[in-house]
Amino acid sequence: MQRDDVRVGHGYDLHRLEALAPAGAGRPLVLGGVPLEHHRGPVGHSDGDALLHAVTDALLGALGLPDIGELFPNTDPAWEGADSAVFLAEALKRVGEAGWSIVNLDATVILERPKLAPAKAAIRARLAGLLGVDGSRVNVKGKTHEKVDAVGEGRAVEVHAVVLLSRA
Ligand code: MG
Repeated sequence: MQRDDVRVGHGYDLHRLEALAPAGAGRPLVLGGVPLEHHRGPVGHSDGDALLHAVTDALLGALGLPDIGELFPNTDPAWEGADSAVFLAEALKRVGEAGWSIVNLDATVILERPKLAPAKAAIRARLAGLLGVDGSRVNVKGKTHEKVDAVGEGRAVEVHAVVLLSRA
């Protein structure tokens, strides 16, 4: 294997969680394209899907491209309430155009409530579908923040994602 045959990309995102609109500014909680039942949800210009945002940034990072905020500015009305699968699809298109394919994706969601475990299989399947890869190439891990700081107090959701690409 040559060193130019693989690329690694890292993505990170955090969204504040607030009471659902109209009581607060929270949108319905969705992670990896999967809706989660909760009384709080992300504040964001798009649908606020922190997992899809982190994965999108990981792909863009591996390609050495501008980040999600530069490609899809939160001042652009076109992205108001947008399904974040659109951002991921655009990043994926660029991966293919540049001659790369996904080896694997590993992501960690840090969320105090609700528990991620019951939704993990669905999130993994949905991510694999969006990425067009077998589920064995996608992993999603759930953590709490041990009740400390904003994430641990349930006021934010945080995601880290790492992706490996190889020459298609
Ligand atoms: Mg985001």
